[in-house]
Amino acid sequence: MKTSKSNLPDREPAIVAQKPINNPSRRESSGNSLSRFTGGSNSTLAQFFERAINKLQHIQVTRRCVYCHQSHSGHTAICEHCLSLIPQFDYHKVEGDLLNRPEIFKLFPRAKFDRLLAITPHQYPLNLWLTQLKYTGSLTYLTHINALITEHLKRLAKVSSSSVVAPDYLVPVPIFIKKWQRRGFNQSYLIAQQLARYFDMPVDNDVIFRVKQNVAQVNQSGAQRRKNLRDNFELNSDVDLRGQSIWLVDDVITTGSTLNEISRLLKAAGVKTITAYALTISL
Ligand SMILES: [Zn+2]
Repeated sequence: MKTSKSNLPDREPAIVAQKPINNPSRRESSGNSLSRFTGGSNSTLAQFFERAINKLQHIQVTRRCVYCHQSHSGHTAICEHCLSLIPQFDYHKVEGDLLNRPEIFKLFPRAKFDRLLAITPHQYPLNLWLTQLKYTGSLTYLTHINALITEHLKRLAKVSSSSVVAPDYLVPVPIFIKKWQRRGFNQSYLIAQQLARYFDMPVDNDVIFRVKQNVAQVNQSGAQRRKNLRDNFELNSDVDLRGQSIWLVDDVITTGSTLNEISRLLKAAGVKTITAYALTISL
């Protein structure tokens, strides 16, 4: 078992930053003030819209859950009851780190990241939601996923023995620019966005870049995969990562080789702690 470095508080907001983010420009980028877009804080129009939006946020909308069809007043298409029925990994006996589960540790014996968080094995309904999001770009499924991410983070925060370290940087696993162009989005970035809302911090999309297209890895050995991945990624040398805690965000972990390759670069740049966060683990 690992030594806890930073325990989560067991009340909401669930997970707070381990230390204040001391770069003011990073804070600003997460702000949602309309005044920046409408001509400064003295703008009457900006104040009008801010007040209108604040009012709208407090209106309770009743909607029907897409699964049980019961009406509920949550902000998502799935009611809290149905969300709570989706099986999730139990973090209580593993100090908030799936690498402390022997059967999962065996899957990633060469893990270069320090901790592993995932919501479920790659199974229904999350596997379906991810596929729909990836190949149809359906925002409906993104709202389902976002609701489950928030539910997951709240559960994690209640694990009192947790060794989860809140992020200084939220870094999505990048996809190659051609794939991004074809698909229209990077699903890891979308997942990181929901984490960013929860932590009230920006997504750091410019820490690492994928500079080469992945070659097909089906039927390749682990050694071959690792060789292929070398030089696929480059770090942004303008970002000082020394001593930082990073959450590296992906949709599905399979072999872990992509996360390992990025983790290797991040550790070489002086990163202190890497938490791999994925929605599912594909066994
Ligand atoms: Zn329901």
